[in-house]
Amino acid sequence: MIDFEYHNPTSLDEVFGLLDQYGEDARVMAGGTALVIQMKQRLVQPSHVVGLRRVGNLNTIESTSEGVRIGALCTQRQIENSPIVGGELPLLADTFRKVATPRIRNMATIGGGLVNGDPNQDPPPALIALGASAVMTSKDGDRVVSLEDLFIDYYETDVQPGEVLTSVLVPQAPAGSGSVYLKFLPRTADDYGTVTVAAVVSREQDGTCKDARIVLGSVGVTPVRATQAEDALRGKPLTDENIRAAAALVKDAVDPLEDFRGSAEYKTEMAEVFARRAVEQAIELIPSGPAGS
Ligand SMILES: Cc1cc2nc3c(=O)[nH]c(=O)nc-3n(C[C@H](O)[C@H](O)[C@H](O)COP(=O)(O)OP(=O)(O)OC[C@H]3O[C@@H](n4cnc5c(N)ncnc54)[C@H](O)[C@@H]3O)c2cc1C
Repeated sequence: MIDFEYHNPTSLDEVFGLLDQYGEDARVMAGGTALVIQMKQRLVQPSHVVGLRRVGNLNTIESTSEGVRIGALCTQRQIENSPIVGGELPLLADTFRKVATPRIRNMATIGGGLVNGDPNQDPPPALIALGASAVMTSKDGDRVVSLEDLFIDYYETDVQPGEVLTSVLVPQAPAGSGSVYLKFLPRTADDYGTVTVAAVVSREQDGTCKDARIVLGSVGVTPVRATQAEDALRGKPLTDENIRAAAALVKDAVDPLEDFRGSAEYKTEMAEVFARRAVEQAIELIPSGPAGS
């Protein structure tokens, strides 16, 4: 690893000052689980690392009228175990529980994972399916970015120089919806998914699909929203035939990279299979009663 100077600021103003001063030579660090590996591999070589851990007010989870606001420094473990997230966003609690091992989840933060932009990570598909957005803060103020627009390319995210991701706002899933996150893990339990899918599906009283959001991970250079499949379901009866036809459209949306987890063809097939299963399981989780029947 190259030599670097570590800075430990206690306020965002100090962070912005350091980012201003050192420009492209500086990188912020949250949990360090991705950045330290990238520095050891010399993929990034900052001369100045700006730790965020001592900056106040970035690690709280609160329930608001717009949804749950999660501070960027909240660890994956904190989110998985939060009573607020468990009560209001069960899809998210389940998703974070499926990340790696407790050792990683105790260190890795929601903000660090999002800015890292690895298309194999678990949280982005679930967060996009829920319609989450991120707040980017700089010395000039706040900028809100829909997570759907955050991921630009492989490990490339829409974070501008001088910006820090400070919080993530996650709306609750719509009333009368069911949601699920599936991680296809044929190798080991702590691996990244070969294919992952988050689905949120809601149903009209007459049994037709009111809305569907289907987002896949590990099948392209960014998370992939399967909009054609969603359009094919919306307004249609949620029959096996319609679900199969919609899931088949997922194949056109994905463009997986071949790696040791499988060929691009295999992952494309699995994307269809797991999208179908995710929609089926989400429908099973739609609450019974007037809102969901
Ligand atoms: C062994 C191992 C297994 C893993 N398995 C999984 C898995 O199964 N599923 C999964 O989803 N992930 C997995 N991960 C990835 C892990 O989730 C990421 O490494 C983690 O989310 C990164 O978060 P961090 O807080 O450690 O980020 P850091 O390493 O601190 O930072 C990552 C990047 O984000 C930038 N950054 C950090 N915080 C901010 C901020 N607030 N604002 C602006 N920029 C910021 C940094 O400059 C850096 O570029 C695994 C990692 C390891 C090491």
